[in-house]
Amino acid sequence: MAQNGYVRKRRYKIKYKNLAILLAILLILILLIARGCSALFGKNKDKNKDLDNEPLVTGDSQQQNIPLENVPALDPATQYYYSFTYEDKTSADLGEGDLVLVNNNIQYLGSVNEDELSVVRELKNNAYSVKDYTVKVRPEAMNALNEMLLAFYTATGKDTIMVNAGYRTLEYQQELYDDDLASSGQNSSTLVAKPGYSEHHTGLAVDFTVYENGKYDQSKLGNGEYTWIDENAHKFGFVNRYPKGKETLTMIDNEPWHYRYVGVPHATVMKNYGYCLEEYIDFIKNYTIKNGFLSVNTDDGSQYMIYYVPMSGGDSTSVYVPATDKETGTKTYPYEISGNNVDGWIVTFLYKEGDGTAVPPVADEPDVTEPAEDSQTDGTETE
Ligand SMILES: [Zn+2]
Repeated sequence: MAQNGYVRKRRYKIKYKNLAILLAILLILILLIARGCSALFGKNKDKNKDLDNEPLVTGDSQQQNIPLENVPALDPATQYYYSFTYEDKTSADLGEGDLVLVNNNIQYLGSVNEDELSVVRELKNNAYSVKDYTVKVRPEAMNALNEMLLAFYTATGKDTIMVNAGYRTLEYQQELYDDDLASSGQNSSTLVAKPGYSEHHTGLAVDFTVYENGKYDQSKLGNGEYTWIDENAHKFGFVNRYPKGKETLTMIDNEPWHYRYVGVPHATVMKNYGYCLEEYIDFIKNYTIKNGFLSVNTDDGSQYMIYYVPMSGGDSTSVYVPATDKETGTKTYPYEISGNNVDGWIVTFLYKEGDGTAVPPVADEPDVTEPAEDSQTDGTETE
């Protein structure tokens, strides 16, 4: 009996030991799974958390370099949902579109038909004022301007913004440039772009000032309640084109009054990742039909896909655009093509509308979405 009792006791001991090892293994497994899950979901849930250790871009603590792997992209396989068609583009088209990059080294290649520009003073709402009837912008920028400054007024109660510049001719830019050199005594300007190299030639840029109690005060921009514009401009497709800390890239001093229209999805990426236009135009080259699209969720709940098509060696480049959903053959994606004014085209298409309705690929929706209808709610659009 004593022996049996001993043996039994010993067996229990071994059992407990096994159990302890089992529990330990289980605990390790649970820990591993939990870690794996938080790594998987944490990435999408909290982008900033992943970026804490990323180096800061010069000067501004708000702006961070985002490594490519942290930016959402579609798996290339999902692109076979679409059938593509193409538009032929030539180098003469490089300067056409909302994403043209123009700076001191890159001359504007596009052209503006002045008759098609919007006279801001004629089309503006009462939330702001305009210097005079010479201030003109492209129609897409006109709509965005009205919406943005109305929202600024709604948020702050201020109707003190004055738009004092828009489209500029070469001749006028020459005058401004000469005046700046004369007043500074320098050979070149860090404030006024060379003629042909100004964003104001595109019809997509505006300069603001503050007009209050009979006085102009541009220095109020970027301060106090006026920071609202910098914080919210992306929701309307505008970016502060010459931000603090990016002077070496933009080659222009910080100008809190100069805003550039690029379109909502692009302004959203630039805002979220702290990119100036020079950086963004470079960054977008990582996304192609082959590599996968850049997926962008905008503030209104829409989802856009963006990709780059480099200019090919020959005279013309086939810029592929999603034609229809393969399943139904009838769904179309509203899309836009813009040249980057340097070496290729950027395609943007609406994948999901703001109300959460998936455009294709969903088989049971017979409606065909008309291109760009969704983003142009204002009747003043003429293009
Ligand atoms: Zn300007």
